[in-house]
Amino acid sequence: MRIYEPVNLAMPLAKRLGETIGERGDVPDGETVRGILKDLGLEEACLGRGVTVFRNRDVIALVLPQGDVLMVDIIPASGELSDALEVIAYRDRQLNAFIVEILPANDIEYEGNIGIEPIIIDAETLELESSPVLGHFEEDEKGPFLVIDRETYELWRESGTTDTCPVCGGELAWKGSEAYCRDCGYRVKVKYH
Ligand SMILES: [Zn+2]
Repeated sequence: MRIYEPVNLAMPLAKRLGETIGERGDVPDGETVRGILKDLGLEEACLGRGVTVFRNRDVIALVLPQGDVLMVDIIPASGELSDALEVIAYRDRQLNAFIVEILPANDIEYEGNIGIEPIIIDAETLELESSPVLGHFEEDEKGPFLVIDRETYELWRESGTTDTCPVCGGELAWKGSEAYCRDCGYRVKVKYH
């Protein structure tokens, strides 16, 4: 679907960065991120001095690789900087783990983490050590919704936080395999493939 706001891009991007780290055991390089952003429907707007700019009608993404740290700043094209998000992937030497997290520009409005927990991947075994709740967005006649796959849902259930909205940290109301957040208005659907 179209990316309407930064979170529509940040959550699937973080999930795919985590998957790439799990397969390759390294912080993804600029080329890999370019491929993911294009796959998510963004166009490359310009390239220079190590910064790549991607955009569509509603969001602008700046890819800033800095050695071992990958940063992607996602800004609404409307200029509403309070909605801006940063996706950051790095290797934490002390934890000996790779971390991928989504940081809001305005953390006052967010009660919890986007995706509930950061992605933490053991740098030796490449095993996931946290329970991040990330997915991609799809839309139907009622608007966009977050799609959670079965694997992610199992981890989420085990962590006991399925009442928390992975988009905004608000409270989720479940009905079968679908939930609704009264705070941000997003629906969450679990897809069992
Ligand atoms: Zn919410």
